Amino acid sequence: MMELSKYKSETRPDWCPGCGDFGVLNALVQAVANLNIDPKDLLVVSGIGCSSNLPGFIHAYGFHSLHGRAMPIATGAKLANPDLNVVVTGGDGDGYGIGVGHFIHAMRRNLDITYIVMDNQIYGLTTGQASPTSSPGFTTKSTPFGSLEEPINPIGLALVAGASYVARGFSGDPRHLTELIQNGIKHKGFALIDVFSPCVTWNKVNTYDFFRQNCYKFNGPDYNPTDINQAFMKSRELAPRLPIGLFYETQKPTYEEQDPTIKLGVPVKAPLGIKDPQELLKEFY
Ligand code: SF4
Repeated sequence: MMELSKYKSETRPDWCPGCGDFGVLNALVQAVANLNIDPKDLLVVSGIGCSSNLPGFIHAYGFHSLHGRAMPIATGAKLANPDLNVVVTGGDGDGYGIGVGHFIHAMRRNLDITYIVMDNQIYGLTTGQASPTSSPGFTTKSTPFGSLEEPINPIGLALVAGASYVARGFSGDPRHLTELIQNGIKHKGFALIDVFSPCVTWNKVNTYDFFRQNCYKFNGPDYNPTDINQAFMKSRELAPRLPIGLFYETQKPTYEEQDPTIKLGVPVKAPLGIKDPQELLKEFY
């Protein structure tokens, strides 16, 4: 196991005291340490939002990209260097709203990427607007009379789109969350870990107490995580019973394994075929 201090960033998290994202950061660090992943072999990519600041708070390669655009960046990095462990982090607004198109296509390609979504049911960085996972009737700055929309069901969406590992955790249960993240990184293929991660500043409904009262673990002898029909049924359960755990896992070829170019070798290690770089540069003078 790698020492936790190996992943310690010089930048301290700027999240509000008590933000659920602290628990996710700690669980991610514990998971990569348990898996003995060297920081040089880890890339953490994010979009925009409070939770998307996470790559700055872990000592590894990082890319803080554009709103909703973490997945294309992560895809490019993974295809250029399939040897990298690529983890994408962000929030529900970033991933299930602005970036939902990229999210769906990454899942159907089954890229070997781990996606951790800090799902707090609100836009935190922009000071509290309804997000794609806000409940109907939820009152925010953008929905003063209550949200009129049905929330996205990220678990059901991931099952339909072809993700090969689908799980949900709670940042107030770090041991369980670490296990889900660790197994998601180990899994060969697209892994979604949706995490209930309370925004203590702007969401006074989906609080730690709310999740402690409503979350329950369902993995056990009566649940078969390779049965997609059972996973669909479980994904339909809503408050006051919120299931957390591994909904579904299956093995199938990843995009990288099938790509004919990558089969010839790792692209970033391929020779560029440039004999004289100075000659090439002259073309741009
Ligand atoms: Fe966390 Fe909410 Fe504060 Fe953002 S505004 S850091 S999500 S508690």
